[in-house]
Amino acid sequence: MAKCPPVLTFQPRRPILEPIARKGPSGVLKIYNTLSGQLEEFRPLSENRVHMYTCGPTVYDFAHIGNFRTFVFEDILKRYLRFKGLRVKHVMNITDVDDKTIRNSGATEPKTLREYTDRFTWAFLEDCENLRIDKPDLIVHATDHIEDMVGMIQRLQAKGYTYEKEGSVYFKIANFKDYGKLSRLNLEGIKAGARVDVDEYEKQDARDFVLWKASKNGEPYWESALGPGRPGWHIECSAMSMKYLGETFDLHCGAVDLIFPHHENEIAQSEAYSGKPFVRYWMHGEHLIVEGERMAKSKGNYFTLRDLVAQRSIDPLAVRYSLLSVPYKRQLNFTFDAIRQAGSSLKRLQDLMLRLSTEELKPGRSDKIQTLTAGALQKFEQAMDDDLNTAQALAAIFDWVREVNTALAENNLHEEDRAAALQTMEKFNEVLQLWKAPDLHLDDRVHDLIEQRNRARKARNFALADQIRDRLYEMGYSIEDTKEGVRWKKR
Ligand code: AMP
Ligand code: ZN
Repeated sequence: MAKCPPVLTFQPRRPILEPIARKGPSGVLKIYNTLSGQLEEFRPLSENRVHMYTCGPTVYDFAHIGNFRTFVFEDILKRYLRFKGLRVKHVMNITDVDDKTIRNSGATEPKTLREYTDRFTWAFLEDCENLRIDKPDLIVHATDHIEDMVGMIQRLQAKGYTYEKEGSVYFKIANFKDYGKLSRLNLEGIKAGARVDVDEYEKQDARDFVLWKASKNGEPYWESALGPGRPGWHIECSAMSMKYLGETFDLHCGAVDLIFPHHENEIAQSEAYSGKPFVRYWMHGEHLIVEGERMAKSKGNYFTLRDLVAQRSIDPLAVRYSLLSVPYKRQLNFTFDAIRQAGSSLKRLQDLMLRLSTEELKPGRSDKIQTLTAGALQKFEQAMDDDLNTAQALAAIFDWVREVNTALAENNLHEEDRAAALQTMEKFNEVLQLWKAPDLHLDDRVHDLIEQRNRARKARNFALADQIRDRLYEMGYSIEDTKEGVRWKKR
């Protein structure tokens, strides 16, 4: 049986070509460093290697898309560092012991706590995969590092930064002279010796914070040289980041709610411990907001990715698009309208990929398209160099997409422009991860139906041909009759 016309399964004749020449050297990435309060050129400690730590999820429940705004921002950052030619070693923690995991699990021992949290760790990793968030090189669990944390606390004890009260160990903030340097805290009015045992608290409540909590009746605990108990929240990130990335490393990220107390306390513990600067660049993403308020579990105004996919048939990539469409330093308002718009923008990009992969083009090259293509890449990079301005990067992409679509419509795109255009799309996608290479494979059933329809049309049985077209539509394929034959598209 004859196969469908070749327009359907066109393969580019040449492999994706040599790199596109860029005008001049590529620029330097500038990022806003919370520690200095300024936009700075990013210069890693070692010339082409970056050590990066991101605070991971607290696995007491499914993560919501507010959390994922931060994880997507960190993913864009990591992919862009790679785009700039840097090697990145990325470590992320899993907070699997804290007030919330203990409260929600109702666990009374470490084993049952871990059984409970593991479920949500897997769910989180699955969501990350659906959002195309690259896996960190190391994913480290707090409960696998109790000994490291105990060792660190013992050294802080030996250096005189702690005191003990009823079996718990506290960090004495008055003994660390730089306390407050990240969040620019005014320490006047803080009562010496006032303590806090909970993991989360506000700036105005800055106090000595707990490093090791004495075991409580009915709660999981570990036997240790500090006595039976469990770690406070903040110590895990200091212990694990320094263990895997060194006592001074390049980048540490999270959302703005982590600046105080979490990251402030991390700096205090780590620098008191090592006597060295802890992190060189701190980056904090702004929140996803719902009707003026931060999306948060405690406020009940949240959506999980799995709810959006299962209940509203939303494509995870439309969520990714929407989360990255606003630069990370600006708050982003969540609306379903924005997700719908993200879906149609994605479709425009996906459609262009399909046309670029399948259309027959005339031979030769167009100087205009080649120049526009090199220019678009440059604009994309300039936008991203400016503290990851993803909104401007997307604008550069869409300006270029418009030009290429016009060239296609006017039959002005040449065979040699195809590779440059596809390669440019690939470069954008290296960082943004928004579209897939089109699936050009036609499954046999669809193939047979198209042929049946061709026969029906030849026999002038248009009623049957229309029926088959409807059937194909239901199966997810749209069909178009052209001079060259039948074109198909996955809807
Ligand atoms: P958690 O699981 O609570 O430890 O949070 C994981 C990450 O999500 C942290 O970096 C938080 O700062 C961040 N986060 C929490 N709520 C939001 C939000 N509404 N928008 C953006 N990031 C958030
Ligand atoms: Zn952390």
